[in-house]
Amino acid sequence: MSIYFDNSYARLPARFYARQSPVAVSRPRLIKLNLELATKLGLDSAWLNSCEGLEVLSGNSIPDGAEPIAMAYAGHQFGGFVPQLGDGRAILLGEILDTRGERFDIQLKGAGRTPFSRTGDGRAWLGPVLREYIVSESMHALGIPTTRSLAAIATGEPVYRETALPGAVLTRIARSHVRIGTFEYFFSRGDTEGIRCLADYVIDRHYPEVAESEQPYRELLLSVISRQADLIAQWLGIGFIHGVMNTDNTSIVGETIDYGPCAFMDTYHPETVYSSIDTRGRYAYNNQPRIAHWNLSCFAQSLLPIFDDGNEGKSVEEVQAAVDTFPRQFEQAYLDRFRKKLGLFEAQPDDSSLINTLLEAMAATGADFTNTFRALCDAAEGMDNGLGKVLHDGVAGNDDWLGNWHARLAQETTSPAVRAAAMRRVNPAVIPRNHLVESVLEAAVEGEFNPLEKLLEVLASPWDEEPRNLPYRRPPEPHEVVHQTFCGT
Ligand code: AMP
Ligand code: MG
Repeated sequence: MSIYFDNSYARLPARFYARQSPVAVSRPRLIKLNLELATKLGLDSAWLNSCEGLEVLSGNSIPDGAEPIAMAYAGHQFGGFVPQLGDGRAILLGEILDTRGERFDIQLKGAGRTPFSRTGDGRAWLGPVLREYIVSESMHALGIPTTRSLAAIATGEPVYRETALPGAVLTRIARSHVRIGTFEYFFSRGDTEGIRCLADYVIDRHYPEVAESEQPYRELLLSVISRQADLIAQWLGIGFIHGVMNTDNTSIVGETIDYGPCAFMDTYHPETVYSSIDTRGRYAYNNQPRIAHWNLSCFAQSLLPIFDDGNEGKSVEEVQAAVDTFPRQFEQAYLDRFRKKLGLFEAQPDDSSLINTLLEAMAATGADFTNTFRALCDAAEGMDNGLGKVLHDGVAGNDDWLGNWHARLAQETTSPAVRAAAMRRVNPAVIPRNHLVESVLEAAVEGEFNPLEKLLEVLASPWDEEPRNLPYRRPPEPHEVVHQTFCGT
């Protein structure tokens, strides 16, 4: 017995989920086990690596203490409401407490059909499973709140999309699998008791600090808003585009969740979209704050019935006022982030214009997002790395952006070396560039896993400029550019 479960979600009322075991697979094989995460979670990696561990990670056996469930949720997908989604191919095995006593869900994604599968097969294939593994672990290394990946298993069975593809199961670790869509599920059914019960659960488990306040539900709403504001600012800071910011893919704890057609920008352009299904750019890079705001208004609306103390008008006003705090909070978090990226420790009124001019120049010249900010770290130490020319070509009216920036830096007392070091902790050297991810996935589908191992190793230290990282820092050649990503369901 190697996992000690304590399953609080399974103790909630029966209508919150369906009890459902994973569907067994024929020839499971371990592709990747996250030893670092296993240790942090207090799990026995030797056991996870054993045949018995493999049986559990593939869904072939249920460990003692697990209470497998598929969670119910609804959601707004591309703006349209779907009253019943739910875990159609994921099964929550249960919750564990890590070495610090923090509670985490262990979920098997791709573990077979559930009562929420609708027309789907309940399965995932190796490409998207490894994609989620790579990108979520990279996000974690970049310091961005995210679900994590404990293991990837090949099932030995084909899944059928346009062609037959190798099936796989991802073991996902999350602080929570409650989504905005979970609240919407009860709201759309008029189940006020359900909303209250879920809100109390979320407060107890994730926001205990609001429990004692006079209006805990209002405080909950405000806390969820502020975590989303931070999260989206962090995404923008590293050029991340989630791709499917539906309310069912918006975690109540502010973790990045559900890695589908997500991507990191190479060339900077604010309207960048990769997802093949996002034809109107709803989830474009620079639209993400607006969408988060919209998603939060869906959350706020779902809380209305439990705000209502007999004075509906007042509740609506309160909820609206809370939602209205998002743009300001986001703007603050965004400015904080980009100030740090520019090496500014103090706030000054013209900072946002300095940031915007830089971004406009980058867009005009098609500058590589990651490498431009990284080059800025060197420039902060006086290194001439050709950045001046690039920016000069992109800045309107021959304005000397680098000169203005140096003048602005000179108003602070931080030494260039300290500043550059701090900048190198917010401007990564390596990100999971789309062309690298794609080539690693292609190799993996062919049964070659070395490139995967190497990429994961490099992404685990994103701030380092080691010689071994160099090939991973190069932007794609024109023929390597990935123009579209797919959700891979
Ligand atoms: P996603 O696009 O992964 O966020 O999924 C949206 C909804 O579709 C969720 O309710 C999923 O459980 C469901 N879904 C996605 N893929 C499958 C599948 N292969 N089988 C069953 N349900 C699925
Ligand atoms: Mg989803």
